[in-house]
Amino acid sequence: MWKKALNHSQKKSHYVAVIGGSVSGSEAAAMLADQGVRVVVIDQNALPYGKLEDGLPKWHHNLRDKQERDIDQKLDHDRVRFIPNMKIGKDFGFKDLVDLGFTAVILANGAWKDRPLPVPGIEKFRDKELIYQNDLLKWYNHYHEPGYKGKRYKVQDKAVIIGGGLASLDVMKIVMMELVERALKEKLGKDLIVNQFELEKKGIDKYLLQFDIKYEDLGIEGATLVYRRQAKNMPLKQPQGGTQEAKEKAQIVSQRILDNYKKKFRFHFIPEATPIDYIEEDGKLKGLVLQKLRTLDNGKLKKIEGETITVYTNQIISSIGSIPEKIEGIPYDGDSIKTEGDDSISRVSGYTNVFAIGNAVTGKGNIKTAKEHGSMVTQKLLDNYLQKNTQAFDMELEAYNEEIRQKTDIKIAEIFKQLFDKAAPDDVTVDHIWEVSKTYQDRVGYKDYQSWIETHRPVRYEEVIAKKKAEKN
Ligand SMILES: Cc1cc2nc3c(=O)[nH]c(=O)nc-3n(C[C@H](O)[C@H](O)[C@H](O)COP(=O)(O)OP(=O)(O)OC[C@H]3O[C@@H](n4cnc5c(N)ncnc54)[C@H](O)[C@@H]3O)c2cc1C
Repeated sequence: MWKKALNHSQKKSHYVAVIGGSVSGSEAAAMLADQGVRVVVIDQNALPYGKLEDGLPKWHHNLRDKQERDIDQKLDHDRVRFIPNMKIGKDFGFKDLVDLGFTAVILANGAWKDRPLPVPGIEKFRDKELIYQNDLLKWYNHYHEPGYKGKRYKVQDKAVIIGGGLASLDVMKIVMMELVERALKEKLGKDLIVNQFELEKKGIDKYLLQFDIKYEDLGIEGATLVYRRQAKNMPLKQPQGGTQEAKEKAQIVSQRILDNYKKKFRFHFIPEATPIDYIEEDGKLKGLVLQKLRTLDNGKLKKIEGETITVYTNQIISSIGSIPEKIEGIPYDGDSIKTEGDDSISRVSGYTNVFAIGNAVTGKGNIKTAKEHGSMVTQKLLDNYLQKNTQAFDMELEAYNEEIRQKTDIKIAEIFKQLFDKAAPDDVTVDHIWEVSKTYQDRVGYKDYQSWIETHRPVRYEEVIAKKKAEKN
């Protein structure tokens, strides 16, 4: 057993598993593969594009396409094996994966769960009068696809959106654009082609000029954004540095961004308020009770005793942040993955060789940050463990190795039996990981990266609009 572990390190046949193939996962995979490491990239979805497909609103199609091409280049690599449609924690246990004997396991699984709205009892309205941001975005980005089978939503006038970050402004834009499209079709006929990409670019008033209709003629009352602080405190612009001056400049820009959005998309804004209760009639949610707050100079919030606002609405959309979906076997500190060491290594607590990168740990929904964090941790992994200092890593792993190798042999033997209905070869080694991972690709009919991507890339909104236009002419 021990001999095998030594052989493994002497041969430097390092295998790394990456959970999640999107921005941060693909960055890590390519860096490792370029240095001779074999990488198994596992994604829960058919495509490895993560939030670029299901989060980033579809009007950002240029950014999406550019980033997706970048991921393709990184994953279409001889030393990368992409396994689609496998959800770790559901289709394959996390601990089982670790026990396979990978030199390292990297969690690049992003933040796919909405932070629950902290109003006691409100969850019973979920997917009825209460919608969460991640669900809404997934629907919005894909509902135009022929054969779309996901959840369906109908945006309501006077919807209330809870949140304050850039994503909540995206949610607001979706709501207002959907309302405008529906109202326009009611007025001018169902066949009218409304191009939401143009609507998003121009804003509501400018877009309506071509129809000779004013926003006021559409009969829309408009949605409302509720934020717990003031507009200037919204995290819409990050301060350039830590000085008071930089902070104040960022606040002015944040205020300006919100004002521009309000003008362009015609919504209402309630600052310094947070939901504490709901109004229910005949089993339906009919409104929200908001507690008034005051933002103190030190940034803290103070409840204004006895002051509440009641807002009547048939729809609440919660956009108060995303957190990682919990996977059995991974330790958490509240909602966050529990890690040790600073951000530059993000080693998952309780494991010698499990690391976390990207949105899963940065808490920032930003492509650049996800990529940079993925790159920083992977570089450290390469420098400290996989290349220059293999011996040190092996020593660190010594105790762990003894235990893991035994588990690895058992695990691989189990999988061999399961997959091929035959006993594992006597000389089973960690190199069988490569063989086993290929079998998981075969199971879903995966042949090569490019053809898999081509057959699974969804029909795009712009294609649907172009087709409709061609049919009309
Ligand atoms: C509404 C919205 C708007 C945004 N707008 C912008 C913007 O304008 N500019 C910008 O820079 N960024 C924007 N972002 C953020 C950007 O999309 C993310 O920061 C980026 O995609 C994070 O990359 P990641 O690799 O860390 O995570 P993700 O892209 O979330 O990738 C995680 C991957 O892990 C997979 N996965 C998850 N769990 C499992 C599991 N259990 N097993 C296997 N696979 C799993 C997922 O399928 C996914 O492919 C926006 C996000 C949202 C939601």
